[in-house]
Amino acid sequence: MARPRCAICGAPAVVYLRYARMALCREHFREHLLRRVEGVLTRAGLLRRGARIVAAVSGGKDSSTLLDLLAELSRSYGLQVYPLHIDLGIGEYSAHLRRAVERLVSRLGLPLILVEVRRVLRGDGVPEFARRAGRPTCSVCGMVKRYVMNAAAEALGADAIATGHNADDAIAYIVKAFIGQDEEQMAKWLPYTPPSGGAVARVRPLYEVYERYALLYAIVNRIPFTHEECPYRARNSMEDTIKEMFNRLEEQHPGLKIGFLRRFSKKRSAEGVPGPVNRCRICGAPSQGEVCSFCRLTERVYGEPLGPEMRRAVAEAVEKALGVSSGSGRGRASAPPQGSS
Ligand code: SF4
Ligand code: ZN
Ligand code: ZN
Repeated sequence: MARPRCAICGAPAVVYLRYARMALCREHFREHLLRRVEGVLTRAGLLRRGARIVAAVSGGKDSSTLLDLLAELSRSYGLQVYPLHIDLGIGEYSAHLRRAVERLVSRLGLPLILVEVRRVLRGDGVPEFARRAGRPTCSVCGMVKRYVMNAAAEALGADAIATGHNADDAIAYIVKAFIGQDEEQMAKWLPYTPPSGGAVARVRPLYEVYERYALLYAIVNRIPFTHEECPYRARNSMEDTIKEMFNRLEEQHPGLKIGFLRRFSKKRSAEGVPGPVNRCRICGAPSQGEVCSFCRLTERVYGEPLGPEMRRAVAEAVEKALGVSSGSGRGRASAPPQGSS
């Protein structure tokens, strides 16, 4: 059987997009995903020269694909993209992720903001911290990641934090929230969440990119990433089941997933999503209460609130990555060299 050819240029195809009824070569597949990401950034008002975006890169397929695409857009549009990796201290898993991220940023010629939680949590990784706190690992992990991402974005004076959530992730969280009739959670799963009460805006540039295409993109472009799964990841979660269900529906109705997300985001706006309203009186991070959850939990576990120390460690990591001397204070570090064009 003849190898399928790209519908645009006739070169050998690497993918057949059922929802678009189109085979594409490597270059045009890249173009296709870039247009998707551009669409989200444009609607969020972020596709402009000088826009500062912190890209949270875990070392998995989605965020690695995201960083590669954002690096391309930084060259074409003059965005300032700052890759941030949080080493969560989850044994060999974290070591694999970190190596993958280091290879990726060096290939892209971007300075990496690297935050190691062990340095602040008295030698503990997230699992030990969670165990001492008597809380589920993933909930503590999520809290630590949110805290560090926001602190890094604040230190940089960034316009938004970009995460690698893909279309399948968004659908899984939306449907799960719908089942629980949790309006607040549902409203969070839009492509863009504006800044609110001190929390930096979030953007999800892969909102309209299916998980399988984020993976395929990483493979065909030889992007460094790891297939390893976190040992704490829940098996057979409701999110996984929802993803399988929607993939079956997508087979019968190509384009159903994108259609669903577009209708969902058109009908809703993130306004009205209650954000944090205070600043933590100990560390100054955005917080729902008087003291933020990071300070509260670290105080309980380590006998002192570690928010100020974590914010200092993040600010130092930012300064180190950007090659600026310490003591420049909070708010706006200077721009890194972007891309290798
Ligand atoms: Fe953190 Fe849980 Fe994700 Fe592992 S699976 S990285 S512990 S949130
Ligand atoms: Zn082509
Ligand atoms: Zn605090």
